[in-house]
Amino acid sequence: MRYAVVSDVHSNIDALDAVFGVIRDDDALLCLGDIVGYGPNPNECVERIRARATATVLGNHDVAAIDNFGLAYFNPAAREAMKWTQSVLTPENLAWLDGLGYEFRMPEFLLVHGAPVNYFEYILDKAAAARAFAATDAPIIFIGHTHIAEVYGLRPDGSIEHAHLQQGGTIALDEGTRYLINVGSVGQPRDLNPRASFGLFDSTERTVTVTRVEYPIARVQEKIASVRLPDALARRLLVGR
Ligand code: ZN
Repeated sequence: MRYAVVSDVHSNIDALDAVFGVIRDDDALLCLGDIVGYGPNPNECVERIRARATATVLGNHDVAAIDNFGLAYFNPAAREAMKWTQSVLTPENLAWLDGLGYEFRMPEFLLVHGAPVNYFEYILDKAAAARAFAATDAPIIFIGHTHIAEVYGLRPDGSIEHAHLQQGGTIALDEGTRYLINVGSVGQPRDLNPRASFGLFDSTERTVTVTRVEYPIARVQEKIASVRLPDALARRLLVGR
């Protein structure tokens, strides 16, 4: 079985379509949330994920779209984009988001937006990764939220290995090691590589591959300008931060 794992699409339909262009029709699609926020195509992204994903969990921007959760802590550009997102999201798409849960568990893996239990915690170092491993018994935990593609491995001896996946790459899953895999962001990468990021878990081959995909950034920047979202949201796409 192959699972394509996407996160943090952030209303960037051009980036999502580029990812869909490189996965197979028979790949199951798993979505780690933050479908909306920041970008110019929230309805299109929700509809594409609704139609294609096997499982989707809520991100903090999705929850903000539903009920303003955390909006006071958003930076001004993110808040302005969320207000606009709320003004254009259809009732059907909002209702679909409202029906999603915070986690999705299968025997082999757990899907959460940021971290197990504390769903919107940012895992940025080994100490946070250790807390995440302790909070669940899932062999593999897929996360997004930081928009940084990376992997932590908890070895049988208790040590934690870590690697960035800024340029993508394949992890051969070791028997006995547990993994926390951040698949990066489809629609707004922040690891200085502007290409869309996603993960592909092959449960037969026992590998996870993070792939970075080119998409037409200039087109998205034009759309951001045409709906009058903050210019900073357009500029950051080009530098990937
Ligand atoms: Zn996000």
